[in-house]
Parts: sequence; structure tokens; C-alpha cells
Amino acid sequence: MKILVLNSGSSSLKYQVIDTSKGEALMRGIVDRIGMANSLLKQKRFDNDVVEVEDDIISHSVAIEKVLDLIIDKQHGVLMKINEIDAVGHRVVHGGEKFSRSVLINDKVIRAIEEYSEIAPLHNPYNLRGINAAIRALPKVPQVAVFDTAFHSSLPEEAFMFPIPYVFYEKYKIRRYGFHGTSHYYVSKRAAEILGRDINNFSVITCHLGNGASITAVKNGKSIETSLGFSTIAGLMMGTRCGDFDPAVILNIMEKEDLTIEQAVSLLTKHSGLLGVSGVSSDMREVQNAAKNGNKRAQLALKMFSYIIKKYIGSYSAVLGGADAIVFTAGIGENVPNIREWSVENLEYMGAELDKEKNNSCIGREMIVSKDESKVKIIVVPTNEELVIAEDVVKVIEEIDE
Ligand code: ADP
Repeated sequence: MKILVLNSGSSSLKYQVIDTSKGEALMRGIVDRIGMANSLLKQKRFDNDVVEVEDDIISHSVAIEKVLDLIIDKQHGVLMKINEIDAVGHRVVHGGEKFSRSVLINDKVIRAIEEYSEIAPLHNPYNLRGINAAIRALPKVPQVAVFDTAFHSSLPEEAFMFPIPYVFYEKYKIRRYGFHGTSHYYVSKRAAEILGRDINNFSVITCHLGNGASITAVKNGKSIETSLGFSTIAGLMMGTRCGDFDPAVILNIMEKEDLTIEQAVSLLTKHSGLLGVSGVSSDMREVQNAAKNGNKRAQLALKMFSYIIKKYIGSYSAVLGGADAIVFTAGIGENVPNIREWSVENLEYMGAELDKEKNNSCIGREMIVSKDESKVKIIVVPTNEELVIAEDVVKVIEEIDE
């Protein structure tokens, strides 16, 4: 099947056309700066044909029309006719407690995604823009929602509840949901395949380290603990998000600095993490450069970033009763050897021994980077959320046809 996969953000639309019979992307692209002047559409085809279009793209609907035009473009396209697209898969960040798997989109599903916008205001409304635009452009094509939270629906109660009055769970469904589920699912499954292990008898800790970062304990193919929580600012230190710290601190700062709730949210989501500590950037490459040039705060930010990952690996090893593997993925996990090295430093006690030479040679590719004799394998697995989305779409479509 040919599946169009869409990941719609506030001002961007990422897309891929995936041929699921080959498990490969025929093209991938991004429309950036939607709604602003000089929007930019960049696309790369499987044969490295590249196209860049600068235009004023005022809405997600216009963005999708441009993307569909390019998909069937004589020079840069991959399909002859648009009706060769069998279905559209949408990444949706929050599926709450309702969706533990991918579903065909109908009015009821749209209303539920809307409902969860309240707890995912930075994501769900924009995911919906993409959904509505795609339905308008391709009204006869099945549209499927694939949720970031779904893989974590297997979390046991003791892992998803917070130690605050129970009434807030009853009233507002305040609990841990977890995110990046599609990525954790993909890399855990892939790690079992690489090691020739049965996923149903395999314990793995997956570290997704991108601009947003999270870590998950996967036991026998199921997520049993994860670091992102009710919101997308919990757990690990991230590019601009704080991760876990003493909740009294924010109350104290709000009082001292006379901050509004909006200002406090902005502090925790946009001004913390690598950016907040280093004062340089939220981008790992820039923080690394500053650290190399002797910037002490950049050096501290890097140390904290990996120290926090190590604390989580230790605690998730306890949760799993020992791990068979540790996986690194996403922009930082795939491309930054020294962060991987510091994150597993001193974990020899639990059987995780890094091969520094292999680790240093591994940038952006699948590779086992632990020593041959290491009991716990350390693996780099480039993530592929779009492929999981496309495969899920096929499953949903096939179920309907049965
Ligand atoms: P997201 O999808 O969450 O926006 P990514 O998975 O693309 O994020 O990861 C972005 C992060 O990865 C940034 O901090 C970026 O600096 C870092 N990164 C990506 N590629 C490299 C690289 N080759 N070397 C160092 N850091 C990299």
C-alpha cells in the first residue's frame, strides 16, 4: 500500500509517502513557517532528487494541497495519480485513556482528540489542523490516527498514578500518559530483531533523545514505565524543557518573581533544559561547540544531561529486574557519542560495558556499541516513527476490510 504519513505541528507539516510493501519512504519532506511570510517546502525523493519551494503558505490546507501537487509532479513526484494513495496516517500526540491503539478517524475520534487538546495544548490542536486539511483534500481516502500515548497504555497503575490526592485523577484524569510511544515501540522491537531475541522475553531500556527526550522501560514488548508524564515537560532534561525537579521550586520562583501562570509555563517549557543551564542554545550541536571552547555552563549542561539519563537507566533497570539492552535513538541518541558514553559511565556493575571505539565510530546508523562480552547490550537504533505509523494504518485498513 502507498500511505501518506503526516505529522502536523503549529507552523510545520512533515510528510512521507511510504510504500509498505517495501517498508521504505518514496519521499519525505517538510513545509515550514506555515502562516508566516516565506514559507518553505523542502522535499527529498528516494533517489536524492531534492526540491525546495519558497512561497506564502497561509494554512495547513494550502500546505497539503502543495504537498499533493508535488507527490504527482512529473519531475519531482513519485505517483502518477493522487488516488494511488491508499490511506493517510496522522501522528496524534495525545490519545488520553481512550485510545490504546490506532483508529480510523471519524467525527467521534475528532471530538476526542479535541477534548484532549486541553491537556496537550501545544500539540493536539495542530495535529487536528492536519487531519481536517487532509480530510478536505482527500475526502474519499481513509484517515487513521496513530497516538504517541498508545504504546504506554500498558503502564501499570503504580507507574501511571502520581502521589497526590486521588480525587484529581477522578476529576481531571491527571496521571502519567507518556509520549514518543511510536519511537519507543519501534526501537525496542528493532533491538530485539538485531539481537535475535524474542520480543516476548526481552527487557530493554529505550532512550529517545531529541529536542524532546524520554526514556522507557519495555518488558516483553510492553511499556511498563516511562519518563514523560501528564505533560511533555517531565523526566529527562531536554532542549528547552526542564524535566523532573522539586515542584516547590517553581512555586517559590513564581512568588519571588511575581510570575503569571503563562510566564511560569514558558519558563519550564521554553527557557529551561540545555538552553536554560548553558545560556547558549537548546541545540546540542551548539552546546557541544561552546563546551569545547571552554564555556563552563555549556559543560555543566552536558554533564547534567547525561547524568540524569544515567539515573533513569539505573532506576529502570530496577523496575525491569535487570535489562538485556539499552537503546539510544533520535537526534542526540543517534549522533552524539560522548552523551552516550557519559550516560552509561559506571554502569559496568549492572553488566553494561561500552566499547568506546565502536561508540565513537557510530554516527546516525544502527550498531551495537557495547563490548562483545557485555551482558547488557548497548545499541544505537535510528528511529522510524513514520514507518510504524504507515504499518499501523495498513493494519487498521485491513481490519475494516475483513
Ligand atoms: P525532534 O524530532 O524532537 O525535534 P531530533 O530527534 O531531530 O528532535 O533531535 C534534535 C537534537 O539532536 C538537537 O539537539 C540537535 O542538535 C541534535 N542533533 C541532531 N543531529 C546531530 C548531530 N549530527 N550531531 C549532534 N547533535 C545532533
